[in-house]
Amino acid sequence: MQEIDWKNIPFGFSETDYNVRCYYRNGSWGKIEVSSSNTINMHMAATSLHYGQEGFEGLKAYTGKDGQVRIFRCEENAKRMQRTAERVLMAPPPVELFHEMVKQVIQLNRRFIPPYGYGATLYIRPLLIGTGAEIGVRPSKEYLLIMFVMPVGPYFKDGFKPVDMMICRDFDRAAPLGTGTVKVGGNYAASLMSLELAKQKGFSSTIYLDAREKKYIDECGPANFFGIKGKKYITPKSESVLPSITNMSLQQLATHLGYEVERRPVPFEELAEFDETAECGTAAVITPIKRIVDPVAGKEFTYGNGEAGPVCTHLYKEYTAIQFGESPDPFGWTEVIDFK
Ligand SMILES: *Cc1c(COP(=O)(O)O)cnc(C)c1O
Repeated sequence: MQEIDWKNIPFGFSETDYNVRCYYRNGSWGKIEVSSSNTINMHMAATSLHYGQEGFEGLKAYTGKDGQVRIFRCEENAKRMQRTAERVLMAPPPVELFHEMVKQVIQLNRRFIPPYGYGATLYIRPLLIGTGAEIGVRPSKEYLLIMFVMPVGPYFKDGFKPVDMMICRDFDRAAPLGTGTVKVGGNYAASLMSLELAKQKGFSSTIYLDAREKKYIDECGPANFFGIKGKKYITPKSESVLPSITNMSLQQLATHLGYEVERRPVPFEELAEFDETAECGTAAVITPIKRIVDPVAGKEFTYGNGEAGPVCTHLYKEYTAIQFGESPDPFGWTEVIDFK
């Protein structure tokens, strides 16, 4: 068995011992199966391949200061996968099934869970796909829910590093009545081009504006946006943003810490008024933004002096302390995984 160099694990795919799978056939979910194969054997006419009938989730397991392994708000991921499934007419996996599979895939891959102290975690990727063969456009009758894991390093190796973002006006990620509020691969397909263009210009990622009027901030490709103004945490309310569990939790935490939370449309011009801006999601928790450029409108906004702002830093520290069991969890967000 190879030793894992916990200090140097990248943020990317790596192979582990097992994944867990559950098939939906003849109107019901089967038993959880354990597999050691990295591949799926699937009909070439599967609806997930042709018509994008698929959805996914992302969550992490954290080894705490006390050595116990915790997951964070797993039930929220389960409920979001149900909403995703309903939106693209897939069979929604029961919350209990989702939860059981998350626990099993962690227990089965125990030796890949990074120990405390490296900022590294075990990333869990649940994937739901239509596997039935259909060529007419209609939902599949069969589904596969699969969960695999991989150890991932901290998103920021050298600490919390602010990034540059580009406002995207040439492409939309999601339409107001489209699938922006659910976690389907199609939204990512729609965002690949603009992300690539932003990266070519030296930006870390893109910020999308609302597709209808291009007046309001929507979100950042795979992460939600928030701005800090004095003691206020302000995040967009929109019909095409994916409800981030990190954002929802940060709003609760911010309120608990005495900040005021506003969830409302955020006009583009307001970028000039924020003290700090950031994107948030499971992968990096909070990514502070130091510069936002709008090449089409010829505008540029800068934040701080290249360092993360005090409010982002405060929220980040308090939030990750709960995840890593360094401070009490007053919200009941974490659950300890049993290893028997
Ligand atoms: C997954 C995702 C997020 C982040 O959600 P978390 O639950 O916080 O990880 C934000 N935006 C999009 C588009 C996403 O797919």
